[in-house]
Amino acid sequence: MTVGEDAKARILAAVLGAGSISRAGLAAMTGLSPSRITKVVAPLLESGILREVGVAVSGGPGRPQRMLAVNRHRASVVGIKLAPSAVTGVLTNVDARITARAVRRLRSHRPGSTLRAAQEVYQELLSVAVANRVPPAALGVGVGGHVNTDTGVCVRSAIMDWREVDIAGPLRVATGLPVLVSNDVNTLTVAEHWFGKGRGTESFAVITTGAGVGCGLILSGRLHTGTSGLAGELGHLPLHPDGPECTCGNRGCLEAVASDQGILRFLRDNGVRGCRSVQQAMHLAQDEQTAAGVVAREAFAVAGHALGRGLAALCNLLNLGKVILSGEGAIAYALFRSELESSWREHSFSSAADDCDLIIDLVDEDQWARGAACLAIQDVISSARYDEPLGSLTKVQYPEAAKIGEER
Ligand SMILES: [Zn+2]
Repeated sequence: MTVGEDAKARILAAVLGAGSISRAGLAAMTGLSPSRITKVVAPLLESGILREVGVAVSGGPGRPQRMLAVNRHRASVVGIKLAPSAVTGVLTNVDARITARAVRRLRSHRPGSTLRAAQEVYQELLSVAVANRVPPAALGVGVGGHVNTDTGVCVRSAIMDWREVDIAGPLRVATGLPVLVSNDVNTLTVAEHWFGKGRGTESFAVITTGAGVGCGLILSGRLHTGTSGLAGELGHLPLHPDGPECTCGNRGCLEAVASDQGILRFLRDNGVRGCRSVQQAMHLAQDEQTAAGVVAREAFAVAGHALGRGLAALCNLLNLGKVILSGEGAIAYALFRSELESSWREHSFSSAADDCDLIIDLVDEDQWARGAACLAIQDVISSARYDEPLGSLTKVQYPEAAKIGEER
C-alpha cells in the first residue's frame, strides 16, 4: 500500500465508521493534516466514491462544515469466506451493507471443489448485482491460514489441509475482477474496525475461537499483518511442551488445547465417548448429574484457562485497551468465562488486564464474508481506475465465466 492509498483507506474507514463526517472531523479522527484531507478527498468526490450530504450545524465559531458520506450505490463488491464445510458469499454496497447472500455446502474441501463452489456463489450474486444495475467491482476472499496477500496464494492452511493453493488466479480468470485474498480473521478484524465493536478504536485485537484459535490486530488504526502475513498466530503460542499435538506439527499450542478439537480430545481422553461436536459437549456440560457432564465442564475450563494465558501474553506484549472475543466457539463463553478471566488476570503483568476491556461478539458466517467484502472495498477505494468520472461504470464488462478446472 502506498502512502496515498494508506491515507485513502484511513479516510474511508473513518467516513464509513462515522456514517457522515466533516473534513475537520476527519482530520481529528485520522491525525492527517487538513490540507492532506482536502487533497485525498477531492478525487474521491470526483469519482463518486464519496458525496457531500449537507452541512453540519455547530454551535462553535467558523464556517459551516460540509459533511461527507460514502456513496454506497457507486459500486458493489462480493465477499466470500472459504471454510471446510461451506463457501459463503455476500454481495454488498461500497459501504459494506449486505444486499444478497449465497451459500454452497461442500462435500470435499479440496482446492478445485472449493474454488468451483466459490465461482458458483459469485455467479449467483452477480445475477442479483446485474438486476440491481450496480455491477461488482472487486472480489474479496477470506480463508483460514497463512495467505500471501500480494499473490493471493494460500501458503498453508491447516483447517483446509492446503499448501500453496492459488486462490486469486483461478477466480480472477473466472470473474474478470480484481481478487483480493487474506486470512479470514484479518478480514473479520477489518469489519469489526469499520462497523463493529472496534469502531473508533485505534488499537485492538480480535481473538476467534472455534475450529482454530486466531487473532487479528489493528494497531494505530491499521491492520497489522507482519512481514509475511503471519502476525497474530496466537493459536500457536506454545503453552505446554508435553501437551497434545497441534495441527501445525508442534505440541501444546494454545489451539491444540482450546479449539473445538482440543475440547473434544479432552473428552475422549477422559473416557467420554461419542461426543462429536462442541454443541454436544455444551449439552453434556449443562448436565449437573452425570460423570460425562463433570468431564465436559472440565474440558471447557481447561480451554478457558489456556485462552486466558493467551490473552495475558497478548496484553503483556501490546498493552491493548480492547480485545474482542469472537468466532463460533465464543458461544460457549459462559462455560469457560471464569477460568479465562482468572488465568488472564493471574498471568498479566501489572495493570495489563485491568487496562483492557474484553468484549464478546458472536458473529455469523455472513459477517466473515462481509469482512472479505471489506478487502474488495479497500481495493475499489484505492484503485486508480476509480479515480475516473462516474459514467465509467458503464464500461464494466461481464466476461463469459471460465469454468474452474476439474480436480486433478
Ligand atoms: Zn500449533
